[in-house]
Parts: sequence; structure tokens; C-alpha cells
Amino acid sequence: MFRVGTDETNVQYEDVLCNFCGQPWDPDDPSRPMLEGHHGSHVCGECLSLAYQAIVHEGQNHRTEGLACTMCLEEREDEIWSSSERPDASLCRRCIKQSATALEKDQDYTWRRPIGPTNAQE
Ligand SMILES: [Zn+2]
Ligand SMILES: [Zn+2]
Repeated sequence: MFRVGTDETNVQYEDVLCNFCGQPWDPDDPSRPMLEGHHGSHVCGECLSLAYQAIVHEGQNHRTEGLACTMCLEEREDEIWSSSERPDASLCRRCIKQSATALEKDQDYTWRRPIGPTNAQE
């Protein structure tokens, strides 16, 4: 999402906020990348790590009926992660895994998915 008052013709890095924690994008921090979803939604690497840990490794599910995934805008049957800070923002399992794969391939970033306690390959 974008900071209130963002000049849409001249968007700066710090205008880009994570939908899940509200932090601005810091392009100088390669460990905290920002990934873009549909309709100007964004998730930062920190939130993606939390989501990956909770959904993939711990099997949590924060599904709320009728709440579509913030990133792909689909109401999916798979598990959903919501940030405790912004419960109206949600991330589906598919987006978590796709985002993790995309970020790990991106040479500009050092982000790696969290390693699970039992299954390091997941
Ligand atoms: Zn975030
Ligand atoms: Zn999704």
C-alpha cells in the first residue's frame, strides 16, 4: 500500500508501505525486501518470514470467512495468515510460497525462508 498523500506520478521508496506491518520500504536493507501484489499491495520480507513460519512450519490458520487474500485478491481455501498488527490484511498459503520462491531467486536480496524445526526442505 502507499503512504497517505503519495504523489502517484512520483512514488518514492519510502511511500511504499507493507500492508501487514506498515513499515516503509528501505531499498538499502537487502534483508527486508518488499514484494508487490495486486492493487498496490505489498508485503515485506519480515512479514513474509512470520507468515511462512506460522503457516508452513506451525500449521496455523488465521482464516476469516469472507476475507480475501490481500496480495492475490482471491478468497482461497488454503490457509491464511493475518498480521496481529493489521488483522484486515491477509496472506494465503499460495502467495506465501510463491513470494518466498521469488525472493530467494532475486539476487538483489539476501532474504531466505525460515528453516522449519522438522522439515528443512519445506
Ligand atoms: Zn511487513
Ligand atoms: Zn494470495
